[in-house]
Amino acid sequence: MPSLLQIAPTLASYFGVHLVSPARPLEEILRFAYSLYPVPHTVVLVVIDSLDIELYTELSHELTTLHRLATGGRGRGGGRGRGLLLTCDTVSNHTTPAIASILTGLEPESHAIFTSDDVGRSDKKSILELMEEEGKHTGAVIETRGASPLFGRVSHVYGVDDQEDIVAYDRMIKEHTISILRREPSVMLLFAHLRTIDRFAHRGWDLHRAAYITDRNVSEIAESVAEREGLLLICGDHRAHRREAMAMGLKLRQMGKVPLIVSAPASCSAIT
Ligand SMILES: [Zn+2]
Repeated sequence: MPSLLQIAPTLASYFGVHLVSPARPLEEILRFAYSLYPVPHTVVLVVIDSLDIELYTELSHELTTLHRLATGGRGRGGGRGRGLLLTCDTVSNHTTPAIASILTGLEPESHAIFTSDDVGRSDKKSILELMEEEGKHTGAVIETRGASPLFGRVSHVYGVDDQEDIVAYDRMIKEHTISILRREPSVMLLFAHLRTIDRFAHRGWDLHRAAYITDRNVSEIAESVAEREGLLLICGDHRAHRREAMAMGLKLRQMGKVPLIVSAPASCSAIT
């Protein structure tokens, strides 16, 4: 079973950057990526907070863009996309260490990033920073506390302040992600983190609505990835933080499984 730990080694291998990790690159993704783009130029990695494989399946009526990207189905405009779906083991049940593992390829006990206060203290470098050191520009659109340690180390950093209105928060994440893709031709790897599903899960709110909102945001991001003829990677970070499960305190020690979608989105602009 693939693991979220393998994403950073896969990206490092694709971009030809040295990264130390106990995990191996995912050959299936590398074959897919090189077959489409032998010279790597644009990869966007979107983490959808709390999207585990169960929610991905349960919410398939709302997550139509994600499912289309994963299966390489036809775009609304008839454009031909190409995609892969892998199921990955998670490495943590908490967002900050999970995302740090996704970006470093290291287990939580190895990167020691457990809270946002740890983000600036770790001496372990993310794939974003490692690429920057080799002159390949990267970017991140994330919550302000996670973003601030990256200023000066990553070319294009945009922090969005945490707020009660998570839908507005994700809209800003989406808009800045698209803005960087449209304005910064040099950026090769861009990371973004969408949180609506996680917030709705914690509150016990309607996950169908959260999924619909998230899918619309992903659809717009996919469109701008298509404009650049780039690759879009989408994954969850941990098993869903559903209120019922959290209240019962059960199974939280168990690791989960999350989808990892790899897609070369086709443009839908012909009809929009
Ligand atoms: Zn999370």
